[in-house]
Amino acid sequence: MKKMRVRFAPSPTGPLHLGSLRTALYNYLLAKKHQGDFILRIEDTDQDRIVPGSEDYIIEALNWCGLTPNESPYNFGNYGPYRQSERKPLYDVYIRQLIDKGHAYYAFDALERINTLREKRKNKGEVFSYNEKTRLQMDNSLSMTSQELSHRLQQGQPYVIRFKTNTINECFILHDEVRGKLQINTKTLEDKILVKSDGMPTYHLANVIDDHLMKITHVIRGEEWLSSLPLHILLYKALGWEIPCFAHLPLIFKPEGKGKLSKRDGERIGFPVFPLSWKDRLGCREKGYFPEAFINIIALLGWNPGGEQEIFSLSELIDKFSLQRVSKSGARFDKEKAKWINQQYLRKKPIEELISLFHKELEKHQIISTDEYLRKIIEAVKERANFISEIWDHSYYFFESTNQYDVKSIKKVEPMKNIFLLKKITQPLSKLHHFDASTLKKTFEDLIQKKQLCFSKMMLQMRLALVGTLQGTDIFFIMEMIGKEETLKRVYRFMFFLIQ
Ligand code: GLU
Repeated sequence: MKKMRVRFAPSPTGPLHLGSLRTALYNYLLAKKHQGDFILRIEDTDQDRIVPGSEDYIIEALNWCGLTPNESPYNFGNYGPYRQSERKPLYDVYIRQLIDKGHAYYAFDALERINTLREKRKNKGEVFSYNEKTRLQMDNSLSMTSQELSHRLQQGQPYVIRFKTNTINECFILHDEVRGKLQINTKTLEDKILVKSDGMPTYHLANVIDDHLMKITHVIRGEEWLSSLPLHILLYKALGWEIPCFAHLPLIFKPEGKGKLSKRDGERIGFPVFPLSWKDRLGCREKGYFPEAFINIIALLGWNPGGEQEIFSLSELIDKFSLQRVSKSGARFDKEKAKWINQQYLRKKPIEELISLFHKELEKHQIISTDEYLRKIIEAVKERANFISEIWDHSYYFFESTNQYDVKSIKKVEPMKNIFLLKKITQPLSKLHHFDASTLKKTFEDLIQKKQLCFSKMMLQMRLALVGTLQGTDIFFIMEMIGKEETLKRVYRFMFFLIQ
């Protein structure tokens, strides 16, 4: 059996969108599952649309996700170059072949003329199509003598090369691995441009030639390319090549359900639609998603593993993935589920890794701490966090004392009436030699019993004093961690705040 070879073929026209990364992932999973090759090909024939920095972005995003290509512009195999702009001589051979066999022709029409024709037809409520019916009235090698053609070429007149589409009811059936039976109809096809006036092939031609030359067995790509399929099939036929298997992946919809998730949606829905930051737009990596969680999230956008399991490692995905379980209809993006998945990975991470990630997070706040201190804090708050940054949100009070208090909560606990509670505890606290959670708990309990105080009110006051809000972990644990001096300092500061 032929070795499976798949490719991810992005154009370097900006940052990768979630959907493109999902295409890369599904290609990768399928290749690995079948011991095949995963190839990265940069489709940069449209030089005007190239955005500097995009190729580096693509490479970095794949690396971050752990989707290492077997062959790429940086890792040559036997089928390079892997950037289309470097493959021009290879295309020239097949362009010649298409022309010689009558499948393609030179067209000299000025763009303005075509635009005028389109305009005129539009005004009549019709559509102009450069095709079998109109091509002989146009300025091309089919409507002129061979002498004129040679003359024009010698003069260096600008031209494009068009595909001579045979539209006489060409209709055939094709199997798509996701969509099943597809009826391909070429009746409405135009004579598409295969080579532009700058001599570069268009996407369609380069894509088909490369897939053939790179021995691609399965073309897995987004649904937006489905409309190009008839032309691609005709090109395979014209070149006499075997047609690879196709799979067109469903769109990813906005969380509301309708409409494609676009690059602009990220900010609105509060979830980055890019894997990594791009200019001033945040990426999932910077937002705190772990690469393995990110992979898990995008894997489930359109692929239904069946069963209850929702958390899959990359190797489990490789094992379980199949195109047959990719849905035909679009996948709805669910931000809450994405966060939940990240949380599951955070919970499973070894404590040593969390400590090291949390050190990095603390650097942003100019805080240096010890592994031991962080270990205890992480253990105490990690269940509440979806991201490492949220560990900070739930534990900042272990590192810095607050001088801002949640006014609403203060009103709730009637501080002026209860301020004496705080005063009463300062003395026994300052006398303690062992400032650990259980000694502290006992000290509070004894005092409360002796003076007939209200335990819960006392606790709320202490919480406001130490944290600034009514949030936070076990109050005795907080005291133990920050120590006697800091505890008393915060209590006095709070009392001072209240009487002001
Ligand atoms: N260059 C196309 C893109 O940017 C690739 C389409 C395909 O995979 O055939 O998505």
